[in-house]
This record gives sequence, structure tokens and C-alpha cells, in this order.
Amino acid sequence: MKKYWSRRIRDMVPYVPGEQPKDRVFIKLNTNENPYPPSPKALEALREAADDRLRLYPDPECAALRAAIAAAHGLSPEQVFAGNGSDEVLAFCFQAFFDPDRPVCFADITYTFYAVYAEYFGLTPRLIPLGEDFSLPVTAFCAGDSGGVVVATPNAPTGLEVPRADLIRILESNPQAVVLVDEAYIDFGGTSADNLVDQYDNLVVVRTLSKGHGLAGMRVGYALGHPDLMAALQCVRDSINSYTVDRAAQAAAAASIADTAYFEAQAAKVSATRDRAAAQLRALGFDVTDSKANFLFAHHPKVAAKTLLDGLRERGVLVRWFDRPRISDHLRISVGTDAEMDALYDALKELTEE
Ligand SMILES: *Cc1c(COP(=O)(O)O)cnc(C)c1O
Repeated sequence: MKKYWSRRIRDMVPYVPGEQPKDRVFIKLNTNENPYPPSPKALEALREAADDRLRLYPDPECAALRAAIAAAHGLSPEQVFAGNGSDEVLAFCFQAFFDPDRPVCFADITYTFYAVYAEYFGLTPRLIPLGEDFSLPVTAFCAGDSGGVVVATPNAPTGLEVPRADLIRILESNPQAVVLVDEAYIDFGGTSADNLVDQYDNLVVVRTLSKGHGLAGMRVGYALGHPDLMAALQCVRDSINSYTVDRAAQAAAAASIADTAYFEAQAAKVSATRDRAAAQLRALGFDVTDSKANFLFAHHPKVAAKTLLDGLRERGVLVRWFDRPRISDHLRISVGTDAEMDALYDALKELTEE
């Protein structure tokens, strides 16, 4: 088939999201969702927004939401762009800042959406292999000839944070290009580059409320950067769909961001559970990276990752496995509640001792 498909998408291999099961109740450790509910203030704002004002289009500029984000980061609203999930913000960034005639640099092992966007927007990716230990080879990102750089920190699916000094080196060696820093997992113990935005006019920090704020179902993400870069994102948005963030999402996201104490406490709980679960897995013989995210990246020297994936599924636990070079012997395990991680441990104990 594909009879009427545009040439642009006929050979596309799109991103594959993690499974959202509908048939039975699983312990879901496969899509890096937050195990804890969103801020009660966000839910209250959401309910308040659900009235006859839904007749009206939302504020295309997301003024109130951007003001809340700006205040949280010590920036001005002109340095903020809000979008319908950070996936949309990233897609706008690829279109706003990158050209086909110069390569876009990102790691060989990172968020797979970068490669999908590069292909979809007709860009030329330059894949930079991570070190054996999955560390970012900084020098390779500093050639100064690229048309764009994308770095996730903490990286997915490895969980490793990119040291701040390395980010600064990358920013300073690439004055010719925009450097996207994807901080989807920064809330779980990493150090944000948000306070470099005033200094580097080629920096765009991309954030999401899906992980740290427990609002994956709401679809809100944002970018921080120089006002001229944010204007480019608006230009792309207004060439496609001016109203990407709906009224209810704007209200809920603004309330969640203002409720700093709540979401920081939830994120701290997730980080503590992560470190406890990492120790448990290491006791079972797993190699586990030093994750600063809300997931673990683990490899067992004796039992194949695919075997563990299937065995866990039979025992009611979903995790993520990527059938890709270099990481097909690893599992990515989202951090759930302590009880969920205990169930994971019991299942893995059985599977690795068999
Ligand atoms: C989850 C994730 C995103 C996407 O987040 P949404 O805001 O839900 O679209 C972006 N980047 C990375 C690295 C992620 O893991």
C-alpha cells in the first residue's frame, strides 16, 4: 500500500513509544512516567479551567504559563517558549535552527527521536559514538563545523549526566550553531544549564513536565534561550499551528510549576528509590550506570536482556529494551514506587538465579 503517501514519509521509520497496555494491569516501568500524582494545585487549576471558556481559543503566547516558567528559572518571559510536550518543542527547534548543508551532531546512543527528526526534516546527522562507559566524548562535539548540536543530560537511556564544564566547552566551541540541551530528566538530581542562558546566545535548554512534574498526560514542555531564538520557535509554530498548548494544559502547567515544594519532594522520593533499587540490582550481579534520571540502565553479565524482558513481562512487570547496536544487552527500567521496585527485584532475583 502507501499508495497515496507523500514521498517525504514513504520510507520513514517513525519513533516507537513505549507500550501503554490496555489488557491487564502491569507494573509499568517502561515509559519513565512519574509514579506519583501531579500537584493537587495543578489538578485544581485544571478543574477550574474546565468551563465555558473552552469555547475560546487559548492564549497562543501562553503568557501566564511563560511568566510562571520564567519566574521559576530567574529568566524573563521573552527567554521562554512553551509547547505541546517537549517532543514538539524539539521538533520546532530542529526546524528553526538546523539546515541540511551542515551536520547536526548527537550521540549514537541517545533519545531516538533526534534521529527521527533529522530524517524527517531532511537534515544530515553526524552520530558521535559514546565512550565504552557511555560517557560523552566532548572533543568530538567541539569541531566547530556543525550546523547544530543536541545533547541530552541526563542522557537517555544511559541516565548519565553531562558535566557542566563539558557543556560549556561545547557551547564555546560551537558559536556557529545552536546547542540544544535536552533536560527531560534534570529534576531527579542533575544540575540545570538554565543559568547559562543569559551568557550563551547559542544555548537552548529544553524541558518537560512529563517526568519530574508527573504530567505526561498533559503534554507540556518548554524551551529556554535568547529571545531571538525563542522568536524563531514562534515563527515555526505560527507556520504550523498557533494554538499548540490548550487552555487546560496552560493552567495546570503554570500551577504545577509554581508548586515547587510539591514536585521537588516527589522527585526526591523517586531519586531515593532509584538509588535503593540500583543497590539491589547490583547485589544481583547487574552492572548499573550511575543514573541521575528516573530510570536505571542495567546489564546482567549472565542473562540476556531480552530473556529478562520477557520473563519480567510474564511476571507482570514491563520494562524497556532497545534492539539496537551497543545496548541490546541492557534494560531501561523506570523508577516506580518502593513497592513496585521490590516486586521488580523479586522477579529479577528469580530470573537471574534460575
Ligand atoms: C520523555 C522525553 C522527552 C519528551 O517529553 P514530552 O515532553 O513528554 O514530549 C524528551 N526528551 C527526552 C530525552 C525524553 O526522555
